[in-house]
Amino acid sequence: MSQPELPAARYAQVIVDVPMPQPLDYRIPAGTTAAIGALVVVPVGRRRHIGIVVGNSDCTAVAESRLRELGAPVGGLRLSPRWLELCRFAADYYHFPWGELALPVLPPALRRVPSAKGTRRRSTPVDLDPAPVPAAPPSAEAAPLLRDEQQTAIDAIAASQGFAPFLLFGVTGSGKTEVYLGAIARVLATQPHAEAAPDMPRDAAPATVPDTTPGLSDPESPGAAPGPQVLLLVPEINLTPQLHARLSARFPAHRVVSLHSSLSPAERAAAWLEAHNGRAQIILGTRTAVFASLPCLRLIVVDEEHDASFKAHGGVPFSARDLAVKRGQLEGIPIVLGSATPSLETWQLAQAGRYRLLQLAQRASGGTREPVMETIDLQRDPADNGLAEPLREALEQTLARGEQALVFINRRGFAPVLRCGACEWLSKCPNCDTFAAYHKVGAALRCHHCGWTARVPAACPDCGNQDLQGVGQGTQRVEETLRKLWPQARIARIDRDNTQGARGANRAGAAFDAVHAGDVDILVGTQMITKGHDFRGVTTVGVLNADAQLVAADFRAPERLFAVLMQVAGRAGRAGQASRVLIQTRYPHHPLFGALARQSFEAFAQEQIEERRAARMPPFVHQALLTAAARTLEQAIDFLRRCRELHEGLPQSSAVTVFDAVPMPLARLASESRGQLLVEAPRRADLHAFLNVWLPLLRDMGNRGVLRWAIEVDPQSI
Ligand code: ADP
Ligand code: ZN
Ligand code: ZN
Repeated sequence: MSQPELPAARYAQVIVDVPMPQPLDYRIPAGTTAAIGALVVVPVGRRRHIGIVVGNSDCTAVAESRLRELGAPVGGLRLSPRWLELCRFAADYYHFPWGELALPVLPPALRRVPSAKGTRRRSTPVDLDPAPVPAAPPSAEAAPLLRDEQQTAIDAIAASQGFAPFLLFGVTGSGKTEVYLGAIARVLATQPHAEAAPDMPRDAAPATVPDTTPGLSDPESPGAAPGPQVLLLVPEINLTPQLHARLSARFPAHRVVSLHSSLSPAERAAAWLEAHNGRAQIILGTRTAVFASLPCLRLIVVDEEHDASFKAHGGVPFSARDLAVKRGQLEGIPIVLGSATPSLETWQLAQAGRYRLLQLAQRASGGTREPVMETIDLQRDPADNGLAEPLREALEQTLARGEQALVFINRRGFAPVLRCGACEWLSKCPNCDTFAAYHKVGAALRCHHCGWTARVPAACPDCGNQDLQGVGQGTQRVEETLRKLWPQARIARIDRDNTQGARGANRAGAAFDAVHAGDVDILVGTQMITKGHDFRGVTTVGVLNADAQLVAADFRAPERLFAVLMQVAGRAGRAGQASRVLIQTRYPHHPLFGALARQSFEAFAQEQIEERRAARMPPFVHQALLTAAARTLEQAIDFLRRCRELHEGLPQSSAVTVFDAVPMPLARLASESRGQLLVEAPRRADLHAFLNVWLPLLRDMGNRGVLRWAIEVDPQSI
């Protein structure tokens, strides 16, 4: 149980969201204590910050005269040692200061510095009344009769002991979600605190720490042990409402909360606190939810584990999927990674027996039929306005039958570039090494990388010619072409341009609803239309520019393309109709399409894994990427060269390879020039041992003309 606070502790170690490698020391005011895990206000420089107490002691290396005093605790919130440990692991793994990781993953409303006047009692969003748990729950929606392979998977998860990672591998519609629900049901049925907690260190039973947060203590059941909790991570905010509803319907007696960034600050804080208090037992969230404070976590599920949005950008570039596995290990619980197209890292671990493979080989639902996958050879059937003849025919027939079609093109706008026919002027972005796309809607040129926007010029800026043409295809242009071809058809478009912001989200929802209701004949869109939606009437899917990915330099591009094509194929034939997926390509004989035609992820993965093994690429090596941004490319590359020189002579560098500094694939972005330097090691531990000695040298070197530099462990695009 909880240790008595030692009255002798005079100093507290506090982590703060500032770039300091170590926790900061503060003097504890006489007559007060500093509980580990407590949120406190502390002075740093001239400002007051929110910090978390991570230690207290009798001695400090800081001179007494330079020590500052610990401020007041905030909000009565106390984080558990396990939570701190998770954050510390993540910070060490990604080579960021502990506080720069731990503070930002808390809901913003909980880490706001109270006003300096201090007399006003905290009235921040913390004192929200959570929605009450229904007293007499409506009867639960029944689970379907499970198929054997689903039952086997659920039994395996439920029977596991301690840390147990699973890969649940099954095509879209094979019933993975039912397996999650089944496994969740088994966890929720277990007794709270069924086992003693000998593995909990020190005062770790965070659930028993009285929560003094106003409005959130539970007067009905003081000290009641919270029930088991389940964390379910999903890649897309778009998908959380559907899944939330499904969870609530299946488990009406258990509180479900969602955690994602489009909640209001108050909603997010309230949901987070319910998870922290143990009141919420099912926590559904996007990537940052992997850091939710969960006193009684018993199962983690990561749906669509291969999805790139589990990787954070900006701030600490963590992988929520990888941290979920680590969290499963720290907690000693099962973790289920689900996918139809697992990441090759995960697949390899399953092949090597490190993850247990659970396979759903058949599609589950009412006679869903696998679509026929075909390629259209653009060399033989060139595209006219983006569409080759065989695809036009297929769409024509689909409309004639009164069925629905999806047309997928991963470029928004009207055309990727605007061009002058007289002088070859092209619409370059002034800030980036790329073109500004032509958007006919709004008559704008827009850079999709930096956001630069300008009105479409009336005439060529170089020669005055008025005949400017969009080159290539974007969603707007495809929509226009389809309308011209079939004026009577009901055509809708979904991409980021018409679905952004709060109103945009509604528009997207309305457009998806219209497709579901059968009020749309052809839906055109970007990747947004490929995910999760259960369109029952779709029998034809056209894919327009797969080749962009096929020829990309990034070695993960084929893996992503395969995943997206499988996903898009999963939208077809969901009500058991015969259906087709037609992919336009100049490379119809690429092995990727062969594996796709057989719908064989295994064949594709096998080929990719062999290629990566031979070429010494991940998952057979471990990587970190150092990037630097400067005013000029020379400055960025020069900085990286110096960094590279610093590694020579380090004993740890013999186990790693440090490559040459090179420009990033998109070297100039938003008026900055960027270079990168890759570090690689066959063994993960060697990579980290090297970074541990090398990065401090880089910090000491100062900035040397670069605006900023950063390290990314396990980079996903290089
Ligand atoms: P996935 O998550 O693999 O895409 P889901 O679990 O969402 O698949 O299942 C797809 C559809 O099949 C859903 O409508 C689901 O209710 C249904 N389903 C799943 N398992 C069964 C089953 N054993 N019997 C009947 N329908 C099922
Ligand atoms: Zn011109
Ligand atoms: Zn730009």
